[in-house]
Amino acid sequence: MAPVQIADKYDIVFIGGGSGGSGGARRAASYGKKVAIVEATPNYGGTCVNVGCVPKKLMWHAADLSDKLRQSVGYKFKGVDHPQFDWATFKPQRDAYIKKLRGIYQSNWNREGIDLFDGHATILSPTEIQVSHPGEEPYTLKTDHICVAVGGRPTIPSDQQIPGASLGINSDGFFDLEDQPKRVVVVGAGYIAVELAGVFNSLGTETHLVIRGDTVLRTFDPAIQGVLTPWMEHTGIKIHRQTNVTKVEGEPGNLIIHTDKGEKLEADVLLWAIGRHANTERLGLEDLGVKTTPKGDILVDEYQNSTVPGITSIGDVTGKWLLTPVAIAAGRRLSNRLFGPPEYKDDKVSYENIATVVFSHPPIGTVGLTEQDARKKYGDAVKIYETSFKSLYFSMIDEQHKEPTKFKLIVQGPEERVVGIHIIGQGSDEMIQGFAVAVKMGARKADLDNTVAIHPTSAEELVTLR
Ligand code: FAD
Ligand code: NDP
Repeated sequence: MAPVQIADKYDIVFIGGGSGGSGGARRAASYGKKVAIVEATPNYGGTCVNVGCVPKKLMWHAADLSDKLRQSVGYKFKGVDHPQFDWATFKPQRDAYIKKLRGIYQSNWNREGIDLFDGHATILSPTEIQVSHPGEEPYTLKTDHICVAVGGRPTIPSDQQIPGASLGINSDGFFDLEDQPKRVVVVGAGYIAVELAGVFNSLGTETHLVIRGDTVLRTFDPAIQGVLTPWMEHTGIKIHRQTNVTKVEGEPGNLIIHTDKGEKLEADVLLWAIGRHANTERLGLEDLGVKTTPKGDILVDEYQNSTVPGITSIGDVTGKWLLTPVAIAAGRRLSNRLFGPPEYKDDKVSYENIATVVFSHPPIGTVGLTEQDARKKYGDAVKIYETSFKSLYFSMIDEQHKEPTKFKLIVQGPEERVVGIHIIGQGSDEMIQGFAVAVKMGARKADLDNTVAIHPTSAEELVTLR
């Protein structure tokens, strides 16, 4: 049911109330424009809030605390030898927080005069959107601009491809787990596989990770892959390299996962984390001639314009840098360009030097080019500075639990311009943001060296590399 009176015409309608749609809508509304959001689910805030960054980070904090409780023995804390995480009571507490966040999204939109329509949007023309909600008559919104911000969802193999594959869950299902499984098999080697396998393992679940290659995070700099993969194994994750799942049998809670190496892995939960694909079905894109890439993402130019005038697209559905801040920045800049003051008439997101963090154990921070990409671009002009060490924190902790730290700086040319920073180790998640500013500003190695270090920190190693 339309909760508000439908305006005669909107300046812009955002399809999808996730990170991108919300960011863009709020910026457009701040310019006094008539704005609507159409959202297909009650999960206001989209993937990040409901089944992504936020609940994931809360689980990472729980896992990190679990590691720290174990480590606290080294600092001579007593009575913490057998910490127990109570998943079954933590989950409703986490859910309640997410529900609160959803409410905050809705009240922000309401307060800022954005009309929210609950329903599935289909684009009828570049100026008309049909909204359908089960049990209700569809209705039409008229608008000058349409922005498609429908995000994506996890990919899972079909039962034809891998018999029994549907017995597994995906990252959405991870957040539905009411109890902590005792044994899990995670398939995949990207962000989600690494992060969720790490959470399970740190919280005490027997964790198997099935990967097609030899290392995790194969698109990251080799320095990162080379430190994280063996460390994950060292902490107890059983990595099955160059392995593919061929068949799944049993029932949830009691599964047998067959691999092409002849293994039969027994698990309570099988979690597929093999990538995501765009939510472009039933949007009416083909009828209008909105082109998609072979993978199914909406094709956009640098200003987020689709191939049909009047229809723009932002966020995960465009397939570039599937990260919340990227979707928000694209939405805000689109609204700046369309509705903002003249100085914003060419505003657009720069997809260069986007910093990103993987919430592994220990965490990873990265910005700029990997060594391979830097060598491809700059050839022999590339120089590498790197260091490996154990942070001071671990000096009080037994050898087995001392986490590794590795920092790698990639510079190019006689000026030694910094073109890539790749760090893994305690605190890397919070460290990389500031260094990303420096890279974005074109920092040279000498600029880092001229910055007096902060002692004693791990970060100081990045400004004292030789
Ligand atoms: P979404 O947030 O997915 O929003 C799209 C919205 O469109 C959804 O609410 C959907 O219901 C709606 N919709 C779809 N079709 C229609 C339709 N036809 N009509 C109406 N509404 C429709 N990123 C980070 O930066 N940091 C992290 O730590 C991080 N962790 C993650 C962890 C996990 C497990 C996952 C899955 C993702 C994570 N991400 C993280 C990625 C981040 O969540 C996404 O990049 C971000 O949510 C994308 O925003 P979006 O607006 O493009 O799409
Ligand atoms: P990713 O693209 O990161 O990784 C998917 C991985 O799955 C690939 O690395 C690939 O690894 C492996 N894979 C692909 N197909 C198969 C297959 N058929 N069988 C086995 N393995 C396969 O996707 P995710 O789903 O992990 O995450 C989606 C996106 O969400 C990320 O790219 C990221 O942008 C975002 N995200 C961000 C987070 C953050 O900011 N911290 C956290 C979580 C998600 P290989 O080629 O080595 O086999």
